[in-house]
Amino acid sequence: MNQHDTDIIIAGGGLAGATLALALARTLPQLRVTVVEAFPLSPEALPDSYQPSYDARSTALAWGSRLIFEELGLWSRLSEHATPIRHIHVSDRGHFGATRLNAADHQQEALGYVADNRWMGLCLMRELLQTDVVWEAPAEVTAMQPLPEGVRVTLGADNGERELTAQCLVVADGGRSGLRETLGFRINEQAYDQHALIANVSTSDSHGFTAFERFTDAGPMALLPHGSPIRAGTTAALVWTLSSGALEELLSLSDEDKCQRLQQRFGWRLGRFTHIGECSHYPLTLKTVDEAVRPGVVLVGNAAHTLHPVAGQGFNLALRGLMALVEQFRVAVEQQQPLGSLGVLNAYQIRHRRDWQQTVRFSDSLIQLFGNHLPLVTTARDAGLMGLDLLPGAKRWFARQAMGLGGRRAELRTPDNAFPERNDHE
Ligand SMILES: Cc1cc2nc3c(=O)[nH]c(=O)nc-3n(C[C@H](O)[C@H](O)[C@H](O)COP(=O)(O)OP(=O)(O)OC[C@H]3O[C@@H](n4cnc5c(N)ncnc54)[C@H](O)[C@@H]3O)c2cc1C
Repeated sequence: MNQHDTDIIIAGGGLAGATLALALARTLPQLRVTVVEAFPLSPEALPDSYQPSYDARSTALAWGSRLIFEELGLWSRLSEHATPIRHIHVSDRGHFGATRLNAADHQQEALGYVADNRWMGLCLMRELLQTDVVWEAPAEVTAMQPLPEGVRVTLGADNGERELTAQCLVVADGGRSGLRETLGFRINEQAYDQHALIANVSTSDSHGFTAFERFTDAGPMALLPHGSPIRAGTTAALVWTLSSGALEELLSLSDEDKCQRLQQRFGWRLGRFTHIGECSHYPLTLKTVDEAVRPGVVLVGNAAHTLHPVAGQGFNLALRGLMALVEQFRVAVEQQQPLGSLGVLNAYQIRHRRDWQQTVRFSDSLIQLFGNHLPLVTTARDAGLMGLDLLPGAKRWFARQAMGLGGRRAELRTPDNAFPERNDHE
């Protein structure tokens, strides 16, 4: 095993790559892990303090993701700035159907949480500082060549190129993954002909820790509770899907007019929209690969699947996949198998495939069903939303999907490598 320069190279130190590095350091400390990140940020160059920003971008973390972060010893730090989602309200604009999910009905304190991406990145980096993970940044993985029992990876940096060999290359370079294409993975792409507009908004009424998912004839929108984890505030994180024409028109409006437009679309459940922050936008495409593994290489995170953000499933699915991969690596180490062998990587893919397919279907079907304007379909979905409210079994299934508890849970630990939640930052 030791003829390589390192054991695992992770290409991309975004949320997926950094979480995988931490999970490996916690679970399999005997493995040497190198993260190669194109952006010039490293655990050694971290800001001293975190100042929440109104314009920060955030991610909805399902309850199941909290359990994973607890297992990685990260949750106590992350929770300092994670706003709980205690209720989810799903409705269809102009139609009578609606459903409500409540954490208390599932004997949990929250269905999920909303955390700023920058805060999650900072927490991960601070933990990584205390591990032996090697962080190469700014540097890019530019090429990969298979070896009989591993891979040779080319790293490009300002000071030139160099090569590293490893047992396995994990590609975590995001939704626009250049490496996925370079390595010839086949991608299935389905454009939604929509864009997601992302911004934080202020409202006259408190969010009461409720996440709203609202389907409108012009596309779905989500408003997630944002701000203090303890006191229900009046800031919400908006994800609003729009056609390109509608997006262009909206961006040309003043902030006041944008708030008014939002009011018309969303209604008054949060009172009046009083302020909208910096707007960013992304074209929406469902991107998946049929096969995420090759000898010596595995795709994870957005490089393996990019979902519609309105259902808030992308990173949550990625996290579960990362844990399944770590679990498989643990088994491979126990059985002294090379980490990049096709047998090991295929076994990972089989472990994760059902969850992956189910989450992609769940997320995509919400968009397809609610994007349809045919009267029969709208009647059926209103009945569906009411049915969800009336049928405890169906509602429980829906809630488990939303909470990220639909799939199996990876076993990261063996009885002799349990690691406790760390509180050393307190
Ligand atoms: C608008 C929007 C809202 C979302 N909301 C949610 C949500 O509420 N809940 C949820 O679960 N998910 C959500 N997601 C999905 C979530 O943001 C992603 O799943 C998550 O960020 C994981 O990304 P990643 O680490 O795979 O990729 P990225 O975050 O894109 O990171 C990739 C990293 O790789 C680096 N890189 C690129 N190329 C190379 C290379 N060749 N070599 C080395 N490094 C490289 C980049 O610099 C970057 O740091 C949302 C996504 C979008 C677009």
